[in-house]
Amino acid sequence: AAIMVSIAACGSATKDSANPSSGSSDNGKDVLIGVSMPTQSLQRWNQDGANLKAQLEAKGYKVDLQYANNDVNTQIQQIENMILKGSKVLVIAAIDGSALTDVLKKAADNGIKVIAYDRLIMQSEHVDYYATFDNFKVGVIQGQYIEEKLGLKEGKGPYNIEIFAGSPDDNNATFFHNGAMSVLKPYIDNGQLVVVSGQKDFVTVAIQGWDSAKAQARMDNLITAYYADGTKLDAVLSPNDSLAIGIIASLKNAGYGTADKPYPILTGQDCDKPNVIAMINGQQSMSVFKDTRVLASKVVEMIEAITQGKEVPVNDTKTYHNGVKVVPSYLCDPVYVDVNNYKEILLDSGYYTEDDLKQ
Ligand code: BGC
Repeated sequence: AAIMVSIAACGSATKDSANPSSGSSDNGKDVLIGVSMPTQSLQRWNQDGANLKAQLEAKGYKVDLQYANNDVNTQIQQIENMILKGSKVLVIAAIDGSALTDVLKKAADNGIKVIAYDRLIMQSEHVDYYATFDNFKVGVIQGQYIEEKLGLKEGKGPYNIEIFAGSPDDNNATFFHNGAMSVLKPYIDNGQLVVVSGQKDFVTVAIQGWDSAKAQARMDNLITAYYADGTKLDAVLSPNDSLAIGIIASLKNAGYGTADKPYPILTGQDCDKPNVIAMINGQQSMSVFKDTRVLASKVVEMIEAITQGKEVPVNDTKTYHNGVKVVPSYLCDPVYVDVNNYKEILLDSGYYTEDDLKQ
């Protein structure tokens, strides 16, 4: 029962008939697009920013790309600057989804359209569109991986598991958690999965800022308190790769990775280079690939439609309520990756080269 693999992602950007400018490059001339990314410390956001910039510039747009060092005030200042410079569209991956209400009001007052990128911007009516991956599905894929590898459907168990969640200020974190728990909770309820620490609700297991060191510290504490006596740890649900890196470091320090004490099943998301290497080395079991090239090209399609007064492509108009309104969204398809298919998904598609994955 292998999990289906597909690179379908969010459909080809080129077959869109509402995109007559493909191939030509002067449609966006002199139109400034502000792109606000959270941080350069995690590989994926560098890739997101670079892909967006390259694809927009290829269409003739000017791009103001800024990274905010995971600091909310820096991000707000950078967005204010983009407004002052005369941006026509803002593409924002928010650090704190609920901290941009005032600055987005300014954007709206200046007639600027706003696309929330990857993470929904909360508590503002001035979020025009949302482009992301199906965040609930990311969690489902992680949960199903654990379900399959442990044979839970076949009734196996009990197995011991620990659960991590992402940053509480990021709306995605709840979606990932709920998606994974939609698969795992029935097995926790019937005793096939045992959360030895008892820590499983979102607030208790969330890691502020998606911080690797904080994830490592929490895993250290869990091992010391619940597993130091030799209790077997069978699986760890990690919502993404930055947390997985911290969890791996903790497990390694605690002596995991031997025949007697193998690494538990460990999930992730993003297919960051160090994590793909960890998969090759048997320290991380899987990751969820979200092709940033595909997301970027969807956002470029949206921008072209906005600047040309055409209908903006969306495929979901009911899921993402930001506290004020439902934001029309385009959801791309996340794809499961492990050591058996990473070559096909990551190398053959040109996302990484062999050199990128050198140890
Ligand atoms: C993104 C993930 C990323 C995480 C930490 C989430 O909002 O969807 O891809 O791993 O933030 O940056």
